[in-house]
Amino acid sequence: MSNTDTHDPTSLRTPIVAVLGHVDHGKTSLLDKIRGSAVIEGEAGAITQHIGATAVPLDIISTIAGDLVDPDDFDLPGLLFIDTPGHHSFTTLRSRGGALADIAILVVDVNDGFQPQTLEALDILKRSQTPFIVAANKIDTVPGWSVNEDTPINDTYESQSDRVRQRLDEKLYEIIGNLSDEGFSADLYWRVQNFQRNVGVVPVSAMTGEGVPDLLTVMMGLSQRYMKEEMEIDVSGPGVGTVLEVKEEKGFGKTVDIVLYDGTIREDDTIVVGGQNDPIVTEVRALLQPRPLAEIRTESRFENVDEVGAAAGIKVAAPELGDAMAGAPVRVVRDRDLEDVIEEVQAELASIAVDTAEEGVVVKADTLGSLEAMADALDEAEVPIVRAEVGDVAPRDISVASTAEDPKQQVILGFNVDVLSDAEHRAETDDVTIFTDEVIYQLVEEYDEYVEGIEQAQQDTILENISRPARFRILPDHTFRQNDPAVVGVEVNSGTVQNNATVVKFEGNEPERVGQIKGIQEQGEDVDEARAGNRVSVAIDGPTVGRQIEEDDELWIQIPEKHAKILEQELADEIPADELEALNMYLDKQRSRDPFWGK
Ligand code: GDP
Repeated sequence: MSNTDTHDPTSLRTPIVAVLGHVDHGKTSLLDKIRGSAVIEGEAGAITQHIGATAVPLDIISTIAGDLVDPDDFDLPGLLFIDTPGHHSFTTLRSRGGALADIAILVVDVNDGFQPQTLEALDILKRSQTPFIVAANKIDTVPGWSVNEDTPINDTYESQSDRVRQRLDEKLYEIIGNLSDEGFSADLYWRVQNFQRNVGVVPVSAMTGEGVPDLLTVMMGLSQRYMKEEMEIDVSGPGVGTVLEVKEEKGFGKTVDIVLYDGTIREDDTIVVGGQNDPIVTEVRALLQPRPLAEIRTESRFENVDEVGAAAGIKVAAPELGDAMAGAPVRVVRDRDLEDVIEEVQAELASIAVDTAEEGVVVKADTLGSLEAMADALDEAEVPIVRAEVGDVAPRDISVASTAEDPKQQVILGFNVDVLSDAEHRAETDDVTIFTDEVIYQLVEEYDEYVEGIEQAQQDTILENISRPARFRILPDHTFRQNDPAVVGVEVNSGTVQNNATVVKFEGNEPERVGQIKGIQEQGEDVDEARAGNRVSVAIDGPTVGRQIEEDDELWIQIPEKHAKILEQELADEIPADELEALNMYLDKQRSRDPFWGK
């Protein structure tokens, strides 16, 4: 195959490119366009379809880019675009602690601007310090645009009317402004001198191919200028890579699709792969590449190759891969000591490991890297994690989540994963709540809202079961009955008088129990409570008017010390201001006798 024919000891490998951006902003279309142009421009077979990736060699890039690229200026062999569909998070795939992608294209729809996944992608690029450029896509949708297929941006820009140019400029500057808000100094790519310090924005249309020559030129130039040293590898050395996906493949059992970023991998090589439990040691049975389109009629979609060199995407068939994890490292052992290689893999896994707590939520993610990103986000939000794993939400995750004591932790947070149908049923019966999303911070936000909801409900129940503070006064000439029970007219000064509450009166600062409220009437109607400002008649079981209580007396609802503590320390923000006032007056009285009362 094409990437096995270079065999000088050190050589420059192809930079690995990730294309990312918000859904529908044009990632797939852009890759299709690049692939399509490459197929049209190149000799048949010149671009190599890899597993999960497309390699575009330098000569094809220079043909597409026309005058913009002189192949003599470059010695990197081309670009390898990762294109696993649905892998929104492949930017979180890692290699030796860094990002797997050497360089990235962030696609932003000029009409739609920055969206949640754009921000998330930026955050990941920032954290992993991956150099990137922005493709400001869909320029052909600017009203009045006249299409010049596959031309460099300058040519097509010059041919537009003033109005159209102005409209496009406005949209581009908006994107530049958004980037600056996120802490990136950015400009239109032709104004950028130092691509390490500034982000270049390339206007493109994935539909018409306008600006695509520029995009490839900038990517190539950026790699050549800043990444040449990192691309120097020992091409015949033992291969190193990252698992993109773990897949069942007919006739092969569980296979792993990997991106190899260093050395070579051969049939019969012993490899060590990061697994859910211990590293997996196994032997390569077959290395599989997609068949060229022309040969698709044959029985298998794949063809065997003996050896592959970095950078490449390849499917590896080997026994025992059931436990392998997307995002985990893969290393070829070759002439080295197996134990050393196992240790290397373990060390790499440990660097991505998530700290778990005794109690917390269950987290599932599509790759090891995204699991780590989730864990970071949850750590920031102070959410503990009890179990963190790569993979879809399965019944055993429900079992773990359902044992949590705190209902806020009977929860599974899934990033870019599916919920298996038997897990869904179990979740319903076991009262486990599952959240899934494709944007990490949205997932964390959803969970936060859920927690707030639960806390609010908990507070509401506490409030229902707690004595509410109230201060009220017996109105003069409003004794309707002397005793058994005493019925008097009162005005509530502050707080809430509730039926069945206990009434006290302070003699100095000494509270004395008066009796219990056995009915409240407002304008002849029975009510459950009376609020500050209300005038109501209350029946109080216990006292006799003229003995324990008098007209004009100030009365209080009794607050048990425990309730006072909860009210003051946990619910002060929840209760109305007048009720808080009643509470504070009550506390003042109690604390003038005992300074630590209710503390
Ligand atoms: P992804 O979700 O980021 O992979 O986005 P897609 O590549 O699937 O594109 C989403 C939609 O936008 C599709 O309907 C595309 O045809 C359309 N689209 C993508 N790029 C362009 C473009 O440059 N111009 C126009 N007019 N439409 C585009």
